[in-house]
Amino acid sequence: KAKQFDLRDIVASYPDFPKPGILFRDINPVFRRNDALNYIIDEFYRAYGKAKVDAVAGIESRGFVLATALALKFGKGVVMIRKAGKLPGKTLKKSYDIEYGSAVMELQQNAISKGESVLIADDLIATGGTAVAAAQLVEEIGGKVAGFAFIIELSDLHGADRLRKMGYKVQSLVT
Ligand code: 5GP
Repeated sequence: KAKQFDLRDIVASYPDFPKPGILFRDINPVFRRNDALNYIIDEFYRAYGKAKVDAVAGIESRGFVLATALALKFGKGVVMIRKAGKLPGKTLKKSYDIEYGSAVMELQQNAISKGESVLIADDLIATGGTAVAAAQLVEEIGGKVAGFAFIIELSDLHGADRLRKMGYKVQSLVT
C-alpha cells in the first residue's frame, strides 16, 4: 500500500565517512519517515510472516530500531546483540573481523530459550562479518536463525551471498 516511493530515493549517501574512501549509506532519513517504516515492516512481514519467528534480534545500534519495529509487527519481543561490555549477567561473546582488526559482539545467555527461532535485523549488510557473528551467538545459546532482515545489501561485498551459501534466508530491501 505504501509502495509509491522507492527507499533508494530516501537513503542518503555520504562520501568519505567515517573514513576517506568510504561511501556511507545513511538510513536515518528512512527511520524519520512513518510511511517508510510502515513499508519496511510490511515487506519483511511478507517475507517472514509465515515463518516461525519467536523473537527479533537487533544488531547494535541501527538494528535496534528496525528490530523493534519488526517485533511489534510480528507480535514478539526484541533481543539486543550488543558491542561487548554493555550487557550484564552471563553472556556469550563472539569476535569478528572488521576492516582493520576485529570487534566483539555479545548476547545474554538467557536472551533466547532453547529452540526459539530468531529473526536477526540490521540496517545494512556489507561483508557479512557482523551478521555471521550474530548468527553464531544466537545458535550457541541454543536458538535457531529464522532469517536475516536488512534494509540495505551492499552486493559488491557479497555478505548476503555468504549468508545464503551458509543456508540462511536473507531478505534485503535495497541492493
Ligand atoms: P559487515 O560486518 O557486513 O561488513 O558490516 C555491516 C555492519 O557495519 C552493520 O552493523 C552496519 O550497520 C555497519 N555498516 C557498514 N557500512 C555501513 C554503511 O555504509 N552505512 C551504514 N548505515 N552502516 C554500515
